[in-house]
Amino acid sequence: STSNTVLNVNGIEVIYNHVILVLKGVSLTVSEGQIAAILGGNGAGKTTTLRAVSNLLRGERGEVTKGSIELRGERIENLSPADLVQRGVVQVMEGRHCFAHLTIEENLMTGAYTRKSKAEIAANLEKVYAYFPRLKTRRTSQAAYTSGGEQQMCAIGRALMTNPSVMLLDEPSMGLAPQIVEEVFEIVKDLNQKEKVTFLLAEQNTNMALKYADYGYIMESGRIVMDGVASELRNNEDVKEFYLGMG
Ligand code: ATP
Repeated sequence: STSNTVLNVNGIEVIYNHVILVLKGVSLTVSEGQIAAILGGNGAGKTTTLRAVSNLLRGERGEVTKGSIELRGERIENLSPADLVQRGVVQVMEGRHCFAHLTIEENLMTGAYTRKSKAEIAANLEKVYAYFPRLKTRRTSQAAYTSGGEQQMCAIGRALMTNPSVMLLDEPSMGLAPQIVEEVFEIVKDLNQKEKVTFLLAEQNTNMALKYADYGYIMESGRIVMDGVASELRNNEDVKEFYLGMG
């Protein structure tokens, strides 16, 4: 792996409930400053791959049984999700997962629980509001009464409160109107360019993901079947035929 490789997933297998082999040797790399996308249909293994990296499989009765995962050259398979957050790796889970009974601002503040400096937390909160003006407008609203788009933004904003260098973003477009999906992806691009956050995202919306990503990996049945720079994948005839209608 070269020196600017942030994440190196090397031949991982994942088994759920001790029997169900779901990832059958997945390898991918994400370079510093990249937006990389894992694409593919329902059940292909995108979420499982992200969970393997952020070590969130255990709660799902899943485990990595083969292969290795490195963050900037250091093995991380045995680090807890909290340790990974300390090292700058945070996952935004599918389905948004805001606390419904908390306000938007309270939700954002839950992302800062490990941080000590009040001044840094306040500055980070202002930064989140600068990227997500909608969240500032809705800061005192209970999350349950905000829109799907606002809840997705809240989930990303909360992850930003950990001051990450790598964000794993699971299906950010899920359940959102196309215009809102575009708004979310524009902010992802902004965070990538201005805050230098590296992204690994999972998406069924191939079209939108390849518009914003630098590099794409296409998954089918627990394997990566194709990969390439996003612009090439978008023009690839097989990708057009099988994936670009999706999402
Ligand atoms: P989706 O977009 O539907 O989330 P995905 O590509 O993210 O799809 P995964 O969620 O990673 O796919 O699922 C991959 C496979 O693993 C599927 O066959 C799914 O049924 C199975 N699977 C996922 N979670 C579990 C679990 N906790 N226990 C058993 N099998 C699981």
